This record gives sequence, C-alpha cells and structure tokens, in this order.
Amino acid sequence: MSIPLNSLRVAIVGSGPAGFYAAEALQKAAPGIAIDLIDRLPTPFGLVRGGVAPDHPKIKSVTRIFDRIASQPGFRYLGHVHVGQDVSIEELRARYHVLLLCYGADTDRTLGIPGETLRGSHAATEFVAWYNGNPDYAAAQFDLTQGEVAVVGIGNVAMDVARILAKPTTVLAGTDLADHALQALAASQVHTIHLVARRGPVQAACTTPELRELGELDGVDVVVDPRDLELDAASAEQLASMEDRNPAKNLEVLRGWAERPLSGARRRVVFHFNASPVALGGSEHVESLTIVRNRLEADGRGGVRAVATDETETLPVGMVFRSVGYKGRGLPGVPFDDRNGVVPNINGHVVEQAGSERTLPGLYVAGWIKRGPQGIIGTNKLCATDTVNQLLADVAAGDVPTLADDVSGIDALLAERGVTVTTWADWQLLDKVEQERGAAAGRPRVKFTDVREMLEVIAAQRVAG
Ligand code: NAP
Repeated sequence: MSIPLNSLRVAIVGSGPAGFYAAEALQKAAPGIAIDLIDRLPTPFGLVRGGVAPDHPKIKSVTRIFDRIASQPGFRYLGHVHVGQDVSIEELRARYHVLLLCYGADTDRTLGIPGETLRGSHAATEFVAWYNGNPDYAAAQFDLTQGEVAVVGIGNVAMDVARILAKPTTVLAGTDLADHALQALAASQVHTIHLVARRGPVQAACTTPELRELGELDGVDVVVDPRDLELDAASAEQLASMEDRNPAKNLEVLRGWAERPLSGARRRVVFHFNASPVALGGSEHVESLTIVRNRLEADGRGGVRAVATDETETLPVGMVFRSVGYKGRGLPGVPFDDRNGVVPNINGHVVEQAGSERTLPGLYVAGWIKRGPQGIIGTNKLCATDTVNQLLADVAAGDVPTLADDVSGIDALLAERGVTVTTWADWQLLDKVEQERGAAAGRPRVKFTDVREMLEVIAAQRVAG
C-alpha cells in the first residue's frame, strides 16, 4: 500500500550535512512532511561544528542553510538522544515508516604498525574533535611539551592538524577554537611538524587552498626537499593524463616552497614524501617514528602505488597524529560492512549484507556512512538527494512498511526512559549564549564543551520561561 507523503513519518539519525540535506530533499518533495532529526548531542551540525577547522569560518556558514531547513513546518530536532543506547533501531523502525541513517564516520583508521598504542600516538580525528570542543573529547590530553611531532597522511585533515599546531595562538584566539585547546596551544612547545606522505606530491589527497595556507602562516618555515618533487615515470604519466588540476597546482605550490629560502622561523613544517611509517619507538610514550622510503610504480589500473625500499629514517618525534582517514562504525540492528566501514546499501537503500540485493524496507543511509569518508560538505547534498529519490520511489511503489497502531510514540518512549530530549529552540538558546560569551571575549563564540552544562543552561531557561 502506498502511504501519502503527508502521512509519512520519517526519522533521520545524525544532524550533520547529510542529515540536513536529506531533510531538505524530503521537504522539497513534500512541504510540511513530518521529520524528526535525532542527534546524540544537544548541538547540531555534526562535523560542520566538530570537524571543520575553527579558522575556516566561511565553510561553517553553511549552517545558515541548515537553520532554514530546521525552521520548516513538520521539522523537529530530538537532541541528546543516543540511538543504540536510549532507543534501539528496532524501536525506531516500529515508530517511523522511514529511518534514514546519516550518522557519519566517527572513528579512525589505524596503521597496523608496532608502537601505535603508545602514549602520544593519537588519531588526528581525536585532536580535531578536541580542538573543536566535541564534548566526548574535551578531556583528551595532548602532550604539547614535545618539540617535534609527526602527522601521518597528507589529506585535508592532516593539513588542518598541521596548521592548528603551527598557527600562532594570537590568531587562533579570534576563532571559535575550544577554550581548553586555546589555552593548551598557547603553551605549546611544538616547533617542528613532520608531514609524512606515503606517495608523492602528485598523489597528495589535500586540496591546493588548504596546502597553500601552510606557507602563509606567520613565524613558520615550510621545508620541502626538491628531490621529492622530481617526478618518477609513473607519477609523470599519471599527472599528464589527469583531468583534475589539483595535483598540478599542489606541485606548483610545493615547488615554490622548495625554492624559497628558509627564514629561520621558530616553527617548521617539514614534508616527507614517498615515506611510510613502519614503527613508533618508545617504552611508554612515543619517542620516535621510523619511516621507510618508498619508490612509486604504476599499479596497472591507472594509479600509482608505493613500494617500500630498504632505506629507513628515524624521526625524533614525541607525538604522532595518524591522519589516514575516518572510519564508520556499526549500529546494533543495522547491517555493517566492516571492511569498508559503511552500511551496505544500493543507492542508499540498506541491504541485508554487503553484496546482497535484498533491501530492508524503510531503512536508508546517506553521507559518509553510505559512501565512506570522502568529499566536501556539498558532496553530501547530492548523496542525500540520491537516497531520498530512491526512498520516494519506494514510497510511491508501496515498498515501505506500515506501522502497528498499538505502539507508543517516540516522545512517550523517551520520557518513560528518563531521557532529557532537547529541541531546536534549546539549541538556539545554546547558540545565543555561546555567541554572547564570545562577544565578551572578542571571539565569534565560546563553545559549550560539556553536555551537563548545556543541559543545565537549557533547564534554567525552561524554568524561567
Ligand atoms: P583523505 O583525504 O582520505 O586522506 C588520507 C591520507 O592518508 C592520504 O594521504 C592517504 O594516502 C593516507 N593514508 C591512508 N592510509 C595510509 C597508510 N596506511 N599509511 C600512510 N598513509 C596512509 O582523508 P582525510 O584527510 O581524513 O579527509 C577526509 C575527507 O574530508 C576528505 O574528503 C577531505 O577532503 C575532507 N576534508 C575537507 C576539508 C576542507 O575542505 N577544508 C577539511 C578536512 C577534511 P594515499 O593517498 O596514499 O592513500
């Protein structure tokens, strides 16, 4: 039986870009459609709040679009609801015709090398979450008394981490970087940041504007060995055949740095291309990182792969950030493809297991948990719209489960369990208080980093209001 769109009950799990863009696509198809957007935190926006670097405020301005989506009739924000703990997937599926999972990829990939669990070895994603004030990481500790540190990987997250470590805190003080991070970074003794890339400049995953920023920081020298920029045959061929101009532009930026005399600045960012980490040294805490020199060769599929040589080097670093990609995790009650860190799906419709064509009625995915952790914020718009188009076609075909009449509503269920559900109005209050605290300190906002404090502010307002 086909359910009319204005009777459809939809829940979206995760309020990052994919969740909001999915809500927008549904609202466009059916103005006023009932959507509950569920998030673990009272604060929305996922990685736009907790991932985008604090010194990239323009990127964060996408939240204005999300605000507009949240203001549409039928939209509700159910904050501070932990799916998998406060409510199960089965309980949600019994209460909504459609459940759209947009919970992203919040863990990290590991290197699988000795010493990786030593103190001082961190996932870059943890550091990012810490400096962005994600409450789960507010208490994380980073030993910034170390002089030399390494960042493994050369994607945009690695760029962010290196830049935040190198940038003067007088500049960071004008951003919404978490207060605890600002204080810690102000006392930082880090002077050398080694960036370790397993392949060459042509294969660097970072985009040129993000790379270029490293060379524009006050008090920072960028060190590039010109020999690393001499292209091997496979890279030269790859570069010549690429439509994407980003690698050529990256190469140009790096060549400029290789020719630029060093100024003797207090801080240095040192690039190590064609180098893979093989071991972290140290007894309890990281004391070094051993890297092996790679040679590059064509992989036979139009790409270029790194092959280790027997030449190694040991960097005397006291901290290592593994910036080799985010990884999604499974949710009880939802199939999971552990190898790829995604929920298996066909065009956003969840299937029983990876490779299967048997779809699970009413269960959909969008964003990083659908396609893996790649792309910019806008990529999620297309991704979420594709999923919603599939969902709408399924609804039209009557391929959506009907709901039993005798099931209690989600509000009653959460209330019965003592869950303090926060609303969009509650977030608007937190947003206002953060901005007021920021104005007093000459900053865009001073973020709440403690959920308990957020709930106290909300409770006080509810009593007063
Ligand atoms: P990423 O772009 O996938 O980069 C991962 C890096 O890790 C690559 O350099 C990769 O090298 C390397 N790597 C992977 N496995 C490795 C291993 N075992 N040993 C050594 N190196 C290894 O991931 P990301 O930096 O986490 O970024 C995730 C997504 O968010 C990207 O799409 C990124 O553009 C986006 N993002 C955008 C911005 C922005 O627009 N400002 C900021 C942050 C993030 P290989 O290429 O050799 O695999």
